[in-house]
Amino acid sequence: MPSTTYRCSSCLDHTLTREYNVSHFSIRCPNCGEFARFVHAGVLEQYEEFEASPPEELDWERLDRMEKFVVAEKLVRQGNTLEDFEVEVHDEE
Ligand SMILES: [Zn+2]
Repeated sequence: MPSTTYRCSSCLDHTLTREYNVSHFSIRCPNCGEFARFVHAGVLEQYEEFEASPPEELDWERLDRMEKFVVAEKLVRQGNTLEDFEVEVHDEE
């Protein structure tokens, strides 16, 4: 049975393994005690990679945290490429 690793988005330390493949799920972290979002480890890795070196194709810095996760999730789990993203710039402020 293939399994997927998820990492606590609060302490970034604790990992859990599940047999299903989703972008994230929320559960109380046995390590830090927070009711935390456990994020697909591959997605989180992609997210952190972009945080360290933002892709040229995207206006990464303008995305909020959730949007960044969505982009990372689509790349990792749904097989999208950066070219698939029309960068939607929200000029609300
Ligand atoms: Zn935790």
